[in-house]
Amino acid sequence: MKSIRLRPGKERSLLRRHPWVFEGSIATGRADPGETVRVDAADGSFLAWAAYSPASQIRVRAWSFDAAERIDAAFFARRVQRAVAMRERLAIDSDALRLVHGEADGLPGLVADRYGDTLSVQFLSAGVERWKAAIAEALLAATGCTRLYERSDASVRELEGLPPATGWLRRPDADGGATELTIREHGWRLTVDVAEGHKTGYYLDQRDNRLRFMQFVRQFGCRRVLNCYSYTGGFSVAALAGGAAQVTSVDSSAPALARARAHVVLNGHDAAAHEALDADVNATLRRLIDEGAGFDAIVLDPPKFAPTASHAERAARAYKDINRLALKLLVPGGLLLTFSCSGGVDASLFHKIVAGAGLDAGVDGYLLERLEAAPDHPTTITFPEGEYLKGLAILKT
Ligand code: SAH
Repeated sequence: MKSIRLRPGKERSLLRRHPWVFEGSIATGRADPGETVRVDAADGSFLAWAAYSPASQIRVRAWSFDAAERIDAAFFARRVQRAVAMRERLAIDSDALRLVHGEADGLPGLVADRYGDTLSVQFLSAGVERWKAAIAEALLAATGCTRLYERSDASVRELEGLPPATGWLRRPDADGGATELTIREHGWRLTVDVAEGHKTGYYLDQRDNRLRFMQFVRQFGCRRVLNCYSYTGGFSVAALAGGAAQVTSVDSSAPALARARAHVVLNGHDAAAHEALDADVNATLRRLIDEGAGFDAIVLDPPKFAPTASHAERAARAYKDINRLALKLLVPGGLLLTFSCSGGVDASLFHKIVAGAGLDAGVDGYLLERLEAAPDHPTTITFPEGEYLKGLAILKT
């Protein structure tokens, strides 16, 4: 077993059970990509078992802080079972959910989502890449699923020196290998393509916020709804279910919008009650303001503008801009659901950005609710970096 020795003082983070060690904290030792290493403090005392990643600035990701634990196939089976059992206790009202959420589940770099009987999985670190076969086996055993599709095509794999990898890791012989499936979320039916969709196929983290939006739309009687960055129209279906009369979905992805249109009909709504705009959100908001349009509810769910804190300033301007425009476009008393999924922008900074947007737009609003990712995307107390999705529900005054 290879070992890594840290520089003096650099043991603090692992002692607090934070799973990352950066390149600069390491005094001696190296290993192959994904190889299990023993990490020692400068005084030689044991800190953790970890995966080594020679290409990444996050050089070491801890598997276990227990000196007696062995990192083998049984270890991954235990971790996967623990993660799956936690989701069972959540009793989520959907057959699509996140089963493994990386560091929060003690499996750094692993994302596993379940869509009905199909698992869609991202192996995003050298450690989980090395243990791919054992992890796939563990996921299938813990869930009873028979199909597992790999979606390891996220750009973060580059930082680990790993090429993209996609395709079936497991499916029954007689299975035709269809990658499009229908899921159930709340009362709705939605289709997901695990091969073609974003990330693993769908944005499961917004599940509870889509339900909340339906409730708000109903409660406040919102008729005209604008869903910005709609992807496949989850919030649009929610708005129609809440009684909205006219919903506009805006996204720059034509395949996502085609699916949004299909979702409206699939859920029993009139296709004429929905408009899909293949356009840039910022430009669309400006155009709608110029045209004198008004909306009773707007959703802003943009992609990650700030992947890390170093991008926060530029991202802040982009967030402020769209929020300012949306606040203008809302009628008085209108509802804004606004989100940021940037890890580099925390909840308090996001609130300040939206406050600045309100100031520039010359409008104020009541903060109805703070929103976050659904609980199958957990954060742990030792890994606050895991927190990424934050949102505000605002009622324009
Ligand atoms: N709200 C969605 C998820 C949104 S993800 C849901 O509930 O499923 C962000 C979306 O923004 C993606 O679908 C992406 O295609 C779209 N997007 C990214 N940049 C955009 C832009 N400048 N204008 C419009 N859409 C954009």
